[in-house]
Amino acid sequence: MLSDPAINELLQNLAKLYIQRLPSEAEQLEVLTKQLISTAYADDVFEQLRHHLHGIAGSAGTFGFHEITEKARAVEAVIKEYSAPTATEAQKEMLIGLLHGLVDLLNEVSREEPPSQQQAVDPPRYQSSQPLLWLVEDDALQAAEILRILDQFNYTVRWFESYSEAEEAAKHERPDGLLLDVIFTREQIIATERLTRDSPLVKLGVPIIFISATDSFNARLKAVRMGALGYMLKPIDYPRLIDRLESVLDQERQVAYRVLIVEDDELQAQHYAAILSAAGMLVQTLADPTEIIDKLADFRPELVLMDIHMPGCSGAELAGMIRTYEEWVSLPVIYLSVETDLDQQLMAMGRGGDDFITKTITDSRLVASVRVRAARFRKLDSLMSRDGLTGLLKHSRIKEALEVEVARSERNSLPLSVVMLDLDNFKQVNDTYGHAAGDQVIRAMAHLLRQRLRKSDLIGRYGGEEFVVILPDTNSEMAESIMLDTLKRFSDLKFIDESSEFYVTFSAGIASTSDQVTPAALLAVADKALYQAKAGGRNQIKTFKPRNRLSE
Ligand code: GH3
Ligand code: MG
Ligand code: MG
Ligand code: MG
Repeated sequence: MLSDPAINELLQNLAKLYIQRLPSEAEQLEVLTKQLISTAYADDVFEQLRHHLHGIAGSAGTFGFHEITEKARAVEAVIKEYSAPTATEAQKEMLIGLLHGLVDLLNEVSREEPPSQQQAVDPPRYQSSQPLLWLVEDDALQAAEILRILDQFNYTVRWFESYSEAEEAAKHERPDGLLLDVIFTREQIIATERLTRDSPLVKLGVPIIFISATDSFNARLKAVRMGALGYMLKPIDYPRLIDRLESVLDQERQVAYRVLIVEDDELQAQHYAAILSAAGMLVQTLADPTEIIDKLADFRPELVLMDIHMPGCSGAELAGMIRTYEEWVSLPVIYLSVETDLDQQLMAMGRGGDDFITKTITDSRLVASVRVRAARFRKLDSLMSRDGLTGLLKHSRIKEALEVEVARSERNSLPLSVVMLDLDNFKQVNDTYGHAAGDQVIRAMAHLLRQRLRKSDLIGRYGGEEFVVILPDTNSEMAESIMLDTLKRFSDLKFIDESSEFYVTFSAGIASTSDQVTPAALLAVADKALYQAKAGGRNQIKTFKPRNRLSE
């Protein structure tokens, strides 16, 4: 648990703004109380009072003024009982007394300093977007080869030529993963024998993959006992190493959870946004419920934190509406409310919410609740929308994504490029080396695209050995240079089969929104360009050029 001074300051300032608002809250409450005194039959006033008290309880809860929350709730409960026209004078008087007490409390608190907003916040798990690997390898030639290939896959690697050097560094620094040679000739060290639970390299607690020239049951056993997550033999099968690295480093965890906060009170929205951002999440807020569907399409949150009471439409109604869209059926919606009435909670959940969090929740519990649910959603969503072999988006999902991205690029007047990519002579690869080797090639293609492209780019497995890549904010020239680079890296990649080595190439066609505007036309044109690349001899990129542009 860390406490970030900048976040604490922001939260403190929000709490100050909230305190400044209290005198006017008190004033409104006083006005309503006066109306209650002067009116004989006050149905309407009761309703307004309840609404107002509810708001007070909620915002006070958010900013940690629990005494106000408790009092406001108590008054609200009394109103629920006494709001009938049959209420006696004595009952009314008691209610008025309670209201005066609350007004006094609000005014009192408004003169105080806000309570210290020392938030205990879980830091994001990974700071850097690219994982940092340490390579500990005394053979300079072998190290150079590993460095070159891992660089092609965009990994950042730091090389240690000696075991002791790495051990020393491990006392002060920490990589995201470790590639460890086994035999260090000059230092006379055999890593699998040298390592114990107390070794600095083991104490790093990061995934270790051994790379060894020799194989033995005992060495592997020792490696596993030291927490090794891989044991690769030399000569290194790089596609397999990359495969291993990617699953071991669990790239998914690096992408921040996207959380949408729907809350009409800006101060409270900012408060929750600050807490969740400090915990490493990507947060957007929405004050106007009518914009929800556009917001979902644009931001694609993995969880919605929804205020229950908003003007114009309730949180429960809004959740119900979200559920009418098939693509948002499984999106977690958590109500954030001061509502403690169980019936009310159940009613709201029946409308499509998944859980209820009260506004008095502690920050670390809020973060934990959100994280657990967002993680589960991501897992399920990934099972439904991702291809099992490659982890890339399935055919239907990449097409949906293209619709969304094209609309977004249009709205923001930014270019967008689409790439259609197909492995060359793949039938032959399968025929010569077997289907399993073919699968390995397809996975390597997926890894390379994922590592080489930006997080904001979308990659789909369109067909068997056919891929579609969407590059937002990228014109056709930029797309072409990115794909040429990818082409080179891929064709350099050596695949190792039991008895032989081989290389594979691909061809790709590019279309961009400067020429085509609909998703269907983009795909059709990229496909046409891909055909030209194949016809032109394969292992190349073609960008669609309309006739009128050729004559420029
Ligand atoms: P071209 O350069 O013209 O694309 O030649 P090609 O051999 O790649 O031609 P084609 O697209 O017709 O062949 C694709 C082959 O890819 C046929 C199919 O057996 C193979 N394939 C499709 N999906 C998979 C898969 O998931 N795994 C493996 N190993 N092979 C696959
Ligand atoms: Mg509200
Ligand atoms: Mg092919
Ligand atoms: Mg094909």
